[in-house]
Amino acid sequence: MNYILYFDYAGICVIAAVMFSFFYRQTIKTRSTRFFIAFMFVALFTVIFDISSTEALKHTQQMPLWLCYVPQILYLGSLVANPVIYLFYIISVVRDKKAIYKWEYLIIFGPFVLQIIFVLISPFIKGAGIFWFNENKEYVHGPLLYVQYAITFSYILGSLILVIVKRKAVTPIQEITIYLYIAINVICVVLQMVMPELLIQQFGITIAVMLIYMSLQNPQDYIDKRQGAFNGLAFDAVFNSNIVRGRKFNILGVRISGLRYIGDTLGEESESEILKEIVQFLIRGAGKKRVFIISQTKYAILLNEGDDGKHITDKIYDRFSQPFSSNGAKISLAVNTCLIGCPEVATNSKDVLSIMDLCLEEKGVAEHNETVVAHKDILAKGQRETLILQAMRQGLKENGFEVFYQPIYSVKQKRLTSAEALIRMKDVGLGFVSPDEFIPLAEKNGLILDIGEFVFRDVCRFINERKLWEMGIENVHVNLSVVQCMQESLHEVLIGIMDEYALDYRMIHLEMTESAAVASEETLKGNMHKLIEKGISFALDDYGTGFSNTVTMMKYPFKLIKLDKSMVWSASDSEKAMSLLKHTISMIKDMNMEIVAEGVETAAQANMLAKMGCDYFQGYYYSRPVNCENFLKTLQEHN
Ligand code: C2E
Ligand code: CA
Ligand code: CA
Repeated sequence: MNYILYFDYAGICVIAAVMFSFFYRQTIKTRSTRFFIAFMFVALFTVIFDISSTEALKHTQQMPLWLCYVPQILYLGSLVANPVIYLFYIISVVRDKKAIYKWEYLIIFGPFVLQIIFVLISPFIKGAGIFWFNENKEYVHGPLLYVQYAITFSYILGSLILVIVKRKAVTPIQEITIYLYIAINVICVVLQMVMPELLIQQFGITIAVMLIYMSLQNPQDYIDKRQGAFNGLAFDAVFNSNIVRGRKFNILGVRISGLRYIGDTLGEESESEILKEIVQFLIRGAGKKRVFIISQTKYAILLNEGDDGKHITDKIYDRFSQPFSSNGAKISLAVNTCLIGCPEVATNSKDVLSIMDLCLEEKGVAEHNETVVAHKDILAKGQRETLILQAMRQGLKENGFEVFYQPIYSVKQKRLTSAEALIRMKDVGLGFVSPDEFIPLAEKNGLILDIGEFVFRDVCRFINERKLWEMGIENVHVNLSVVQCMQESLHEVLIGIMDEYALDYRMIHLEMTESAAVASEETLKGNMHKLIEKGISFALDDYGTGFSNTVTMMKYPFKLIKLDKSMVWSASDSEKAMSLLKHTISMIKDMNMEIVAEGVETAAQANMLAKMGCDYFQGYYYSRPVNCENFLKTLQEHN
């Protein structure tokens, strides 16, 4: 027969063009990319072997018998490899979040291995194999050819069924491409039967490779064209591929803040110009590591396991210590980095974004130029925070908070003369949530003003309704948060509420921590003076936990100092702490302020503190914080 080989030559050109275009562009390496590369090579070799085996058939008479077999074996071997590799490729595309297990490899590869064995033994079993050369050195088919067809057909059918079942995993155009591959194969096989001399089957395969390249494997799909780095799609693909292959790796998260300001003031053009500069800088700084843009201001750099990325972050912090310039304006931007171990900390690419935000929150504003290493529970913590936040929002609307009272004992009067109001969150299925956990969250999310007002109002109502002064209570302590102290209108709000309940202003003591004093000096002083004028007193809370308490103590008109429980407790542990406590107390007394000792849990502590000159005690020895009814009962028992 006079075979027509033009289509095979055209096929080589097509594959070569696709390969050039594929390898020339920088792309990411995922499991499906690897199978695609294998698929391209197998297709290429099949075409080449098709040509060489066809040519060889023309010259069998001049060749020794064994040499006649070699090109045929190569061709038939590469031919049966096509559908297997294609099936693996399809599996890796539609199952991008799941591993291919060993047993699956075995089951799928098994028949293929059989096919190869058939090809290899054909020369030895002659008429019983796939093909053989008869006495006249003519190429003759054997019965095993039909087994070969059957296996190949099952592979193609397998990939077809897989796509139909899992069609949700691919886009419509990708689905069509996958069907097209199968359709083209079938058409070419039919054409081949009708016109045996026309070798067109391999050309069909190469066209299919090109289609897949264009719709499923185009490296351009993975590039953010505006900024020239890999995009979120690429990040998802690489992330999932690493996870399904059981690889461990680190992600260096880079988050930039201050960009919105540029957009607002200098315009979008400047913003995108600077973004481009940043991305190019990151790409250069990351060297061989891939840089992904995962959101407007967040970037991820893929690192190997054990690599903490310090060589990159050093460069980043160094660059960001200098301003960027655009249109003559100099712009300083802040940058934060975090290191996320995968899969220990993040198991899917979506988590990475949330973890980057959570890391930034944990880092706080104070520490700079340091990479935060995300810990294992950060997501769980973040989720709990979200739930608590929800519960607080709901609680503010639906009575989800309650104020507890912890009595304060006066040493001079030997009875309970005061109490601290402490907020409690009613149980909403999160277990006990301590104010130490939810108050900082409320501060971060702007809920603290409403919560603070709720507590203050509830305290005023309680004092007024139960006429606490008749039960020997001289005042109630209410905690103020930093955020409240920064409000210019704080005094108006508080006085307004007290007036609603016609409260004697002397019934209220406000407690604040040193951080409130530091954060808002002028505003706070203004507020304090206006409130003190009315008769309200102030207490400095948590004394002994900060560093410059003495300065704060002198700067502001505090009437009371509350010694932190840690200071009280450590006095029984060491001589030094004991002497510190003693001197602190006498110093405060010298300054004419009164002292409340917190965390008094035993009679021994109470005796010791009384001897040192403390005026008031608060602690479990007298009572835990209790709800208002129990508080009233405690008052009746004690006073
Ligand atoms: P804080 O102002 O230092 O409140 C004293 C804390 O010490 C309370 O914890 C109290 O239950 C605890 N405590 C008192 N005596 C003892 C004792 O003898 N032993 C032990 N182990 N603990 C004792 P609580 O109620 O969990 O409050 C924690 C923090 O939450 C408070 O610390 C305060 O900073 C904040 N907080 C509570 N309620 C409010 C509020 O209404 N507004 C604001 N802004 N913060 C509040
Ligand atoms: Ca307090
Ligand atoms: Ca305290």
